[in-house]
Amino acid sequence: MDVPTNKTQTILIVGAGVGGLSFYHSVRKNLGKKFNVKIFDREKSPEDRWQGYNIYISKKGVTSLFYCTPPELQVRFPEAMPDPTPTEYHTMLLTDHIGRKLLKIPYQKTKNIYEIESLKHDFAGIVSYRNILRDVLLEGVDIQWGKKCVGYEESDDGVWALFEDGTREFGDLLIGADGINSPIRKQKVPNLEIFDLGVTSVTVDIAVPKNLANQLMSNYSNSLIQESIGKNGDFHFSFFRLIPIDKSDEPIYRATLCYIYPTRYDIKDNISIDDNDPESVIKHAISRIRQLRPPCELTDLLIELFSLVPFSHVEEKYPFRTYIPPRRRQLLDIDPLSVPPWKNDRIILLGDAAHATNPILGLGANSVLQDAYLLTKELRNCENDDLVECIRRYNEQMRIRSSKDVMESRNFILNHQKPVGNFGLLIRYSVFRLIDVFNNILAFIKFYI
Ligand SMILES: Cc1cc2nc3c(=O)[nH]c(=O)nc-3n(C[C@H](O)[C@H](O)[C@H](O)COP(=O)(O)OP(=O)(O)OC[C@H]3O[C@@H](n4cnc5c(N)ncnc54)[C@H](O)[C@@H]3O)c2cc1C
Repeated sequence: MDVPTNKTQTILIVGAGVGGLSFYHSVRKNLGKKFNVKIFDREKSPEDRWQGYNIYISKKGVTSLFYCTPPELQVRFPEAMPDPTPTEYHTMLLTDHIGRKLLKIPYQKTKNIYEIESLKHDFAGIVSYRNILRDVLLEGVDIQWGKKCVGYEESDDGVWALFEDGTREFGDLLIGADGINSPIRKQKVPNLEIFDLGVTSVTVDIAVPKNLANQLMSNYSNSLIQESIGKNGDFHFSFFRLIPIDKSDEPIYRATLCYIYPTRYDIKDNISIDDNDPESVIKHAISRIRQLRPPCELTDLLIELFSLVPFSHVEEKYPFRTYIPPRRRQLLDIDPLSVPPWKNDRIILLGDAAHATNPILGLGANSVLQDAYLLTKELRNCENDDLVECIRRYNEQMRIRSSKDVMESRNFILNHQKPVGNFGLLIRYSVFRLIDVFNNILAFIKFYI
């Protein structure tokens, strides 16, 4: 690959998700003298697909986001990441199947997102509204909508991005930020395959009334991210902000709720669920909870939360007023280290396209943001170096770092997706409590020494 360094080069970004948009801003902010940038997305408009769910942005994600974005965007961050209220703890508490604490990630409280950025350790973060974060990131970005990329063609002096509508676009670098099913990845690294974790998830956004939110907060010691591991290979997580989503007298909060169970149960029962019918999906999720969880307060709460789905969104019309129609989905991921290093050339993978991560530990978007930061940094250092070497350094670091997150999230699911008896539970409690003690010692050292 021979790229002349005396002309302004063009970067083509395919995919306007968190990754593509952060990198777009970062090119304009940090590399504007060297590169033009264009961005394309298959959606027809910003509203085409619901970009909901809450997401947890960790200290590393926050730092990368600040590096990538200009000050006029940074002042809007509190729209997507409102200042923590006094009773909110932006951390995760994990319990067993009946709500007994296994571990709680230590956390330093901050007044706002700007304080997180200046911390010297990683025990901080913030629960954010993913859809609003995307709205903020869309500001000032000239996206070419309705451009579904179907592949690319390399030439001696550049690369053509090819679109389904028959058009094509020429650039010096092509960034595949086009998510887990990336056609760019499938062409560039065909042997990098999607891994099926063997578990099914049902994820919904719901409007939670104050009394249930209080119950969750009290069971989970005010931690905004609540997770539980069942005895039968099943999991739940829920997270929300204690900030009302409308102005009614009785506050309601937007929560993301997910129930995960081994797919083998659906295969064994040979049941047929219509995934296009939200009501049957929710009924099914509730019946799995009843089957796999013991009768207890936490189980009742989960069932009550799932029962809220049909009534959950005020702006959408009945019969099913949710933000996004619930479906059963397989949890999938991609480990970039499962294949040998790929060629370091003009085609660069960023985000879920290279390393989709299951959501159980809330690492995916943070890893995507770190890619945008890292790629910018390497391209910035390119002055006295050749471009291939910069891309090689990006690929190498991105693969190693993101694989760690993918495998940590994968192993969390795989290690707990089999039923356990009393002895297994004892080992589970001991391991988590040890990790809890270790985390607290580490956090104490970071906070005070
Ligand atoms: C329920 C849930 C909860 C999560 N919680 C967290 C969390 O708490 N913390 C966290 O860090 N992460 C979380 N994640 C993961 C996080 O959302 C993803 O890792 C992140 O959004 C991936 O960003 P991306 O930009 O790489 O890909 P995407 O967000 O998937 O964006 C890809 C973009 O490419 C476009 N596109 C796709 N194909 C084409 C094509 N052929 N041509 C043109 N455009 C195309 C799409 O329209 C889309 O806009 C969660 C995910 C889920 C599902």
